[in-house]
Amino acid sequence: MKRSESAGKAPMENLSERDSRHIWHPLTQHKHHPHALPIERASGAYLYDTSGKAYIDGISSWYTCIYGHCHPYITGRVAARMQQLDQVVFAGLTHQPAVSLAESLIEILPDNQEKVFFSDNGSTAVEVALKMALQYHFNQGRKKDLLLAFESGFHGDTFGALSVSGLSVYNGPFDGMALEVFRIPPPVEADPQQTLAQLGKWVDTGRVAAFIYEPLVQGAAAMKTHHPEGLDRILGFLRTRGVLLVADEVMTGFGKTGTCFASEQLRVKPDLICLSKALSAGLLPLAVTTCTQEVYDAFYADEVAKGFFHGHTYTANPLACEAALAALELYQSSEIQDGLKRVMESHREFAARMEGHPMVAEIRHIGAILALDIRIGAERYGDLRQQLYQRGLENGVYLRPLGRTLYTLPPYVISQEALGQIYSTMESLLDYCSGLG
Ligand SMILES: *Cc1c(COP(=O)(O)O)cnc(C)c1O
Repeated sequence: MKRSESAGKAPMENLSERDSRHIWHPLTQHKHHPHALPIERASGAYLYDTSGKAYIDGISSWYTCIYGHCHPYITGRVAARMQQLDQVVFAGLTHQPAVSLAESLIEILPDNQEKVFFSDNGSTAVEVALKMALQYHFNQGRKKDLLLAFESGFHGDTFGALSVSGLSVYNGPFDGMALEVFRIPPPVEADPQQTLAQLGKWVDTGRVAAFIYEPLVQGAAAMKTHHPEGLDRILGFLRTRGVLLVADEVMTGFGKTGTCFASEQLRVKPDLICLSKALSAGLLPLAVTTCTQEVYDAFYADEVAKGFFHGHTYTANPLACEAALAALELYQSSEIQDGLKRVMESHREFAARMEGHPMVAEIRHIGAILALDIRIGAERYGDLRQQLYQRGLENGVYLRPLGRTLYTLPPYVISQEALGQIYSTMESLLDYCSGLG
């Protein structure tokens, strides 16, 4: 008998052990991390483990649950919808949640966005955008096979998304097997002359199809911010040279940078936009790639083959669309808008207070995001990240430090008290590091 056949009867406390018997977790070296923490329920800004211990969800479960976990308005809407419609094929059929969601998104996205293509996670939203950009040129008889991206960008884990990502820990084993991508440094100045000169040379090859970028802040690169004016210069230059602009707002969408979309803070609007994560409030997987009429028109033709032949089985799942619709309504509410403002203001105060702290090398905040780099030598890293993670949990705060960076992006509904607990946990982690000498 396989051991797991008896596992159904095992008590809750054994969940971690049962987990490690058959489950292979994402982004995990199982030799270092044999056990996962079992979470039983979640509510508002809190996660609860199987022993009942509460943890503040300091990163909104990877930037999804900005309305808090299990928000009754969203769960209620989805529960009602699922009595009526579960899943239908989205090639040739349609439904109200998808239509209403597309209308609502077009209403709030930058003015030039006209069409919405559904998928189900951030990586596929990026795959769709890249394929659309490449085929946009192909359909018009131009062979363009080169993409531009930022160094240290992150756009997802599937092959195309991986190709444009610049984080070597993810890419190493697949070097040389990916799309051809040229990388530029994110702009640190208002007028990045050197970068523009380099871009000019690449664009002159006539091969550049599109530029993909995380606007204003690079999430996986430890919440690194860049210069908005510098980015605008780059975008403006590439636009004049016929390079499609793809804003990956999978992380930044829905208020993270203080405006609903980071692209709102830029003068030059993208041709394509990728959204996921908070789009469906962390309830169900959903993503969209949106584009301009001009992009869409390059596919609209008598020849069938000029269409966009890409689709996923769960495209525009009605329940995920319903969650997103309910979430969008909530986004406009004073509950969420006031919460977001409060989080932003608190971050500003905390950042000001921590400026000049001997253990803080740099502190950044933009919108609901706050990140600080610990002043500690690389030789001290070792398993520091894991120690910080564990100590956070012991303090009742779920954070996922990146290298020596501590960051938080809490649900906008978080209480002041819980937000204070995140800050004081960060301070205690700094104290701990200073004790390491
Ligand atoms: C998370 C993320 C992705 C990938 O989304 P998944 O849903 O994890 O595939 C892509 N781009 C950015 C900017 C992200 O933060």
